[in-house]
Amino acid sequence: MLNGVLLLAEAVLYFGVMVTLFRFRKRTGLGVFVCALGVMHFLETYLASVFYVELPFGLVSPGSAVMFSGKLVMLLLLYMKEDASTVRQPIYGLLAGNALMIGLVLLLRMHDISPLPDGRRPDIGFIDEMGWLMVWGTTLLFIDAILIILLYEKLGAYLRNRPFARILTSVALVLTFDQAGFFTALHFVADAPIAVFFGGWFAKMSAALAFSAMLVAYLRWFEAHDSAAPRGLSDIFDTLTYRERYEALVEHVGRDGLTGLLHRGRFDSDGETAVSVSLRTAKPLSLLIFDVDHFKSINDRFGHAEGDRVLKAMAGLLCDMAEPGDQVFRIGGEEFAILSARPHAMARLYGENIRHAVKTSYSHGRFDLTVSAGVATVGETTQRLTDLFALADQRLYKAKLTGRDRVVGEPAGSEADTHDTWTRSRQNR
Ligand code: GH3
Ligand code: MG
Ligand code: MG
Repeated sequence: MLNGVLLLAEAVLYFGVMVTLFRFRKRTGLGVFVCALGVMHFLETYLASVFYVELPFGLVSPGSAVMFSGKLVMLLLLYMKEDASTVRQPIYGLLAGNALMIGLVLLLRMHDISPLPDGRRPDIGFIDEMGWLMVWGTTLLFIDAILIILLYEKLGAYLRNRPFARILTSVALVLTFDQAGFFTALHFVADAPIAVFFGGWFAKMSAALAFSAMLVAYLRWFEAHDSAAPRGLSDIFDTLTYRERYEALVEHVGRDGLTGLLHRGRFDSDGETAVSVSLRTAKPLSLLIFDVDHFKSINDRFGHAEGDRVLKAMAGLLCDMAEPGDQVFRIGGEEFAILSARPHAMARLYGENIRHAVKTSYSHGRFDLTVSAGVATVGETTQRLTDLFALADQRLYKAKLTGRDRVVGEPAGSEADTHDTWTRSRQNR
């Protein structure tokens, strides 16, 4: 009974201190947490080789039941909140550290060791007891760590909204695998009876239960506000992480720094694709180009920072008014483009709505703000993005020449009627 309580107390102490170090990783760096994990690894292996206590179901070592299970849960936590390349660091570090330790001990043993004044000699023979256990244990840990990440990812498909079940299943399955691996070695090397397997397994399952509960509580109360990065299941230690980072980078690179909109380069590539898809599928595609009127004077009168704020507000407004099928780009200083899956008349109406929204949103500010726009739609004369762009730009120019604060589309006769009707009905309201 006392042994059971002490084991639980050890688990709580271990978990509490380790997650505290983890929690402060942003302030202190992850090195503190990883280093503590490394130090515990040594004690854990030592205990697992020599320190056993009696429980009703068999002999249990705090080294493997509490500390090894705890370490695995810590690695899972590291993966959940950081990423695969970060979990790789302590695992490789433990492997390398153990190899170095065994190498050093082999050299140390060759010394002609002087006894201390009281006649004591160092017990360097401890390495015989735990040396092989360290190598085998760390190899197993390496497999366990990959396995727990894979399991955790796989179980996401079934248990995404049940974190406790997901974590407990991952931890329990991997600890079962680990116990089998560990026992096999113990059996062949030390002739351990099968009772050792069940005693250790039972203890590890209890540990899985306790640690999973503590981990879920910790995640819910202390880490709930950080968003988890989306993950897929592929080559865990390499491609997964680098692919994620690469995709994030590509996503970032395609965007304009000030407004976060897609930039000119993306407009050219996405636009060309959109035009050819439109021609192939005979679905409409319109291009709207907006240019802020007299923007330079805003910069001149109110400063560049105010100009930047206007550009951000413009971007926000365009995004708010965009619907599925619309893509918004910043293609120049104060020039924006929207590729829209609307036919010409609808695209023009949409342009008018935006023009109107810009005007009214600034009507009570320190200055007036208006935009001019040109609209063109994929058709017989526009088979390429450059044609479409030239046409829309030409119409934008016309909007500027004829007084600004207006949207120009196809010439009167074809589509202009729609525009006029709409303008009149709006004025009547
Ligand atoms: P209009 O289009 O009505 O003919 O007049 P405009 O004053 O808007 O004309 P123009 O296109 O020549 O001016 C664009 C100005 O936008 C010039 C440039 O200083 C400013 N600009 C370009 N990029 C940025 C930016 O990122 N931030 C700020 N604040 N200003 C920028
Ligand atoms: Mg301009
Ligand atoms: Mg302008």
